[in-house]
Order: sequence, then structure tokens, then C-alpha cells
Amino acid sequence: MSYLQEGGCFCRNVRYKIKGEPVLQLFCFCSDCRMITGSDAWPGFMVRSSDFLCSLGIPKIYKKVSSEGRTVKQHFCKNCGSNLWGETEFGLISVGAGTLDNPDIFNPSNKVFTSGVPHWARVPENLESL
Ligand SMILES: [Zn+2]
Ligand SMILES: [Zn+2]
Repeated sequence: MSYLQEGGCFCRNVRYKIKGEPVLQLFCFCSDCRMITGSDAWPGFMVRSSDFLCSLGIPKIYKKVSSEGRTVKQHFCKNCGSNLWGETEFGLISVGAGTLDNPDIFNPSNKVFTSGVPHWARVPENLESL
């Protein structure tokens, strides 16, 4: 059976498809993710760019050198402002788990950038640090 997951933004103008198993499932606690989500961490899927496709709409792209020194192209819905996915330098796409049609498939095993988090951050004890 082939793997297929779909998701998209709040207003449904932008939709995407994931056609392969995620490479990693994690919570990222970096300061960029905190700003993007407005929360303590970003929960997400890392998928191969060859397994990812924007199936509807044209997202707004914001390019930035991340707080960790890497160039990231962050994709947003220009209508509703939802933060959808990022394109990293490693040929991986970071997809926000909350934007999946079926968020229950998210099964995180890792956490990253947990040092220097604010005191109110909810860092999961059971996940392995990368
Ligand atoms: Zn939208
Ligand atoms: Zn991050």
C-alpha cells in the first residue's frame, strides 16, 4: 500500500500531499519555530522533498537564515497566514503536524534545540534529543 497523507492551511487555499514515510518526526524548540508557531515548539514531520507536493494554491515564501545558521524557505498561506512547511538545505521538507488532515498520524520520537527554552516550554521527557 502506498503512503499518502494530505494537509493544508486554515482557509484551505493551499493544500499539500506527502507520498512517502517521514524521515523524522520531532518537536523543534528553536527560537524561529517559537516565533512561527507563537508557542513553545513546532511539532513536525521531516519528509523527503521528492515525496512532497503542493497540490493546491501558491504559498507565500519567506526566506531566512535560521537561528541555527541554516537557510530555510518558510511557506505560508498568503490568505489566512497559516504556517505550512519549510524547505531546508538538506533536501528535506519540514511539515507542521497540526496542518495534517489526520494529525493523529504524528508520532514524534525526537526533540531538538531544547537548551535555552523559556521556563514555560513543555519539553517532553520521553523523546530522545537529536
Ligand atoms: Zn489559507
Ligand atoms: Zn525550529
